Amino acid sequence: MKPSPLRIHRPTTVDETLDLLAARGDTGKILAGGQSLVPVLNMRLAAPSDLIDITSVAGIDDLEVSGADGSEEICVGASVTHRRVERSADVTRANPLLGEALRFVAHPAVRNRGTTVGSIAHADPNGEMPMVLALTGGRIEARSRRGERTLDAEELNIGPLETSLESDELITRAIFPALPAGSRTGFDELARRSGDYALAGVGMILDVDGETVTGLRCGFVSVTDVPDILDLGEAVSGAELGDASTVAATVAEAVRDFIDPGGDIHASADYRRHLAGVIASRLFRRLCRSDGSSGRGDARGASGRGEDSLVGATGDDTESRRA
Ligand SMILES: Cc1cc2nc3c(=O)[nH]c(=O)nc-3n(C[C@H](O)[C@H](O)[C@H](O)COP(=O)(O)OP(=O)(O)OC[C@H]3O[C@@H](n4cnc5c(N)ncnc54)[C@H](O)[C@@H]3O)c2cc1C
Repeated sequence: MKPSPLRIHRPTTVDETLDLLAARGDTGKILAGGQSLVPVLNMRLAAPSDLIDITSVAGIDDLEVSGADGSEEICVGASVTHRRVERSADVTRANPLLGEALRFVAHPAVRNRGTTVGSIAHADPNGEMPMVLALTGGRIEARSRRGERTLDAEELNIGPLETSLESDELITRAIFPALPAGSRTGFDELARRSGDYALAGVGMILDVDGETVTGLRCGFVSVTDVPDILDLGEAVSGAELGDASTVAATVAEAVRDFIDPGGDIHASADYRRHLAGVIASRLFRRLCRSDGSSGRGDARGASGRGEDSLVGATGDDTESRRA
């Protein structure tokens, strides 16, 4: 299908963009990379009268890591693509979780066009970026003709595909704090095919002092409606890294209790719940073993029907083989 008839505007300044947004109200829509919006328009799930293409707007294309040690931040402008963020060595150094999770976002072709800010604005519970913003304590800056405001992830995300942004607001940038040097971070997910949205995904920040765990926070993809964060600090603090296997079972159980996945044709709710626990357990053990760095995850080594099996009590072998 094709979108319903619409006008496309190509402003070159933020002021011009804000004027267009103010004038068009609910009938205007910002177009960034178009990787989420264009399919929605083509399927006529939305029919705005005006698209405001922000890809040529000056001053929103910066990607920078600034600030002193301990208060460093990554500022991602509204037109910065996923790919630019993913390929930035400075970003990976300051916030490895961001770089790692980005490699799970679709395929390179999509990451070449899609923007990190657009992904946050789209607020898809299956998207990795809203989760990373929430888990790392990030925020966005939004501007309209009425002024400017800053929102953290909790203030921004109010439901699946729903944010607290007004129709005349432009997110100018997203800000991700650098992670403390001592923290170990990781992300992993399982998708039916490489590049697909995850059936379940888990991000983690593990704090360690010597050989002792001092904190653990988890964020989720595809198994919560909004990027809720599970703080397991109390449950795991004081555990020794060498006890990772025992503690991992506690982590998996807590994750399964916390999330509330829905089911669909790809996976039942019970299977997603089981899967999130397995991923969390593996990720926790990986972070306990190492500094947490890894490549793109998959179902490597999945076998058997124990705690660590991708085949849950309610899953089946077909799902395991596809994974
Ligand atoms: C085949 C395919 C697979 C994909 N797989 C994944 C995946 O695994 N994980 C994942 O996270 N994403 C995935 N995506 C989505 C991709 O990450 C998108 O790039 C992203 O979700 C939206 O970014 P965009 O720049 O394309 O935004 P657009 O599609 O242009 O816009 C998305 C929405 O955000 C709004 N918006 C955009 N920018 C702003 C702004 N600055 N201020 C206010 N509102 C704004 C738009 O009005 C629109 O409502 C996939 C996409 C495709 C096509």
